[in-house]
Amino acid sequence: MKTVGYAAHSSDAHMVPYHFERRDLRANDVAIEILYSGVCHSDLHTVNGDWGPQAYPIVPGHEIVGVVQAIGSEVTKYQVGDKVAVGCMVDSCQECDQCHSHEEQFCRNGMTPTYGVPDRIDGTITQGGYSKHIVVREEFVLRMPDNMDLAKAAPILCAGITTYSPLRTWGVTKGTRVGVIGLGGLGHMAVKLAVAMGAEVTVISRTNKKEAEAKAMGAKGMLASSDAQAMQAAGSSLDLIIDTVPTQHNVNDYTPLLDVDGTLVIVGQVGPIDMPMTFPLIMGRRRVAGSLIGGIKETQELLDFCAEHNIYPDCEMITMDQINHAFERLAKGDMAHRIVIDMASLSL
Ligand SMILES: [Zn+2]
Ligand SMILES: [Zn+2]
Repeated sequence: MKTVGYAAHSSDAHMVPYHFERRDLRANDVAIEILYSGVCHSDLHTVNGDWGPQAYPIVPGHEIVGVVQAIGSEVTKYQVGDKVAVGCMVDSCQECDQCHSHEEQFCRNGMTPTYGVPDRIDGTITQGGYSKHIVVREEFVLRMPDNMDLAKAAPILCAGITTYSPLRTWGVTKGTRVGVIGLGGLGHMAVKLAVAMGAEVTVISRTNKKEAEAKAMGAKGMLASSDAQAMQAAGSSLDLIIDTVPTQHNVNDYTPLLDVDGTLVIVGQVGPIDMPMTFPLIMGRRRVAGSLIGGIKETQELLDFCAEHNIYPDCEMITMDQINHAFERLAKGDMAHRIVIDMASLSL
């Protein structure tokens, strides 16, 4: 199938239109016409080569929403016309203990990310959602709930699941005291999801500048990390902290905020952090942990949860040709919302 997308051809190149082929349908494949594609910070890191050498050209995008256009002969879950989604993975071994326990992101044989890696069967490089079409095996296709607003849903597939999974893993429920560091793409989803689970949410940021925004999302309050007195007073006041800071930082500022047995979960920075001090960990059995997206089953649960509770990321819609400008803004950071590409703006 001929399609078109926007690709990076080298680590210093801008995104440019790219015509390429999607594979012929295998028996268990679903062909999707992409309607919306979210822009994730990791798209930018990948095309920039920040995480190592890449197999250019790369069409990024792993927050994909669309409609089923065709199905393979053995597909049972989907029909032409169904509203569907694809997230950060398009395949895994389906045989190991992690795959069997619906944690494909931790597949022992390595899951297949949506773009930039060899396909498990034919070895061609996977290409992502900044394109008109994608072909994915049905096990990695998600169903959009009927009442969901497709134009606003794309960022749930990465920013949403990245924050939902640790909230679920650490058992957040009514009354859990949750701190969220940062109110960007990940942080604002963490706040909305934790609030919907009944948690008491505190947003932690350098200043109180975004307090009104945080409260509008249902947060109880805001804690300024630059205010030493306020930080001291908030000691041992949280059960769980979702740390969305996307750069090297010092977790020692935050671990004392945890109560006994509390956990700080890193979901933003992939790379070095400042050396954690053991004193606050030992003195309160506190933990520093990490978390990576979530499994397919959990992602479906999240989509259903968002539809039920009317939770959407704060989205700004752009056209495909605005992607380079969007990347520049993303690199500067500090956006309290997600960018979504309207794929109708790109034609074959
Ligand atoms: Zn992402
Ligand atoms: Zn596996």
